[in-house]
Amino acid sequence: MDEMLAAIVENARPRHGNGAVATYIPELGKARADALGIAIVTVEGDSYDAGDSDYPFSIQSISKLVSLALALTELGEEQVFSRVGVDPTPDPFNSIMRLEMDRINRPYNPLVNAGAIAVISFLPYRESAARTSAVLDLARKLTGNNALAVNEAIYLSERTTSDRNRALAYFMRSTSILDGDVEDVLDTYFRQCSIEATVKDLAIMGATLAAGGINPVSGERVLSSRVCRVVRALMATCGMYDGSGEFAIRVGIPAKSGVGGGILAVVPRRMGIAVCGPALDAKGNSICGMQVLEELSREMRLRVL
Ligand code: GLU
Repeated sequence: MDEMLAAIVENARPRHGNGAVATYIPELGKARADALGIAIVTVEGDSYDAGDSDYPFSIQSISKLVSLALALTELGEEQVFSRVGVDPTPDPFNSIMRLEMDRINRPYNPLVNAGAIAVISFLPYRESAARTSAVLDLARKLTGNNALAVNEAIYLSERTTSDRNRALAYFMRSTSILDGDVEDVLDTYFRQCSIEATVKDLAIMGATLAAGGINPVSGERVLSSRVCRVVRALMATCGMYDGSGEFAIRVGIPAKSGVGGGILAVVPRRMGIAVCGPALDAKGNSICGMQVLEELSREMRLRVL
């Protein structure tokens, strides 16, 4: 298995030249464009990895799964989805356009920036410190890594350059979607995006989502099976942004990408798979990561969609 994974990684690695590392958050520009790693953890707790599987990267939008799972657990589906939709959008991840168009007030889904920022504002914590520590605590349980932490340099870099997310958030407050203090809500968003992890950590998170909420390594029940089902469904339909349909055809597994180059894929009742390759395509998805997942899905017959 490890040999097959190593071959798939080395086959995909040269493709990094077709993509580019994200630089709109300046600190992300320091990532190694040719890094590529994969880790798999099964629902039985067996693990495999290859390539740069110890390479640390910020999980970026993969963190949206964690804050969404927290909101669903603490508030329930009714409260969350009455204010944020559950449908895919053809627009880029940070688009502002539709907030004022056909679906007045409601961001399309919780996995685009607007939806994720809104969901964070619903969390029942008074300020960012408490909110962030609740998100981090859940991320630690999902990965089983108690040392998981925010990369301060990436957090500061995003906080000082994120006019786009500020625009989204202030707009949503003007239409009463977002609750509370905009800068405080954004602080949690920037911090959770800057959580640093390896593919080995994220594969355990994926295995926990695949197993219906029980972390197969620690044995702890972290989420309800219903919350996992909702999160997996949104990954399948919205997790790869406006590339979600193409990814469903090519790979056929629920997945969520981040602009740090990570992709977390979940094969229900079988395994979690995490890949990281910081060179991105035009939609913000890891070029090599998608290639690795496509080959692996074909080799191991993982397709569920
Ligand atoms: N922190 C990033 C942003 O808001 C997350 C985007 C992503 O990973 O797709 O721009």
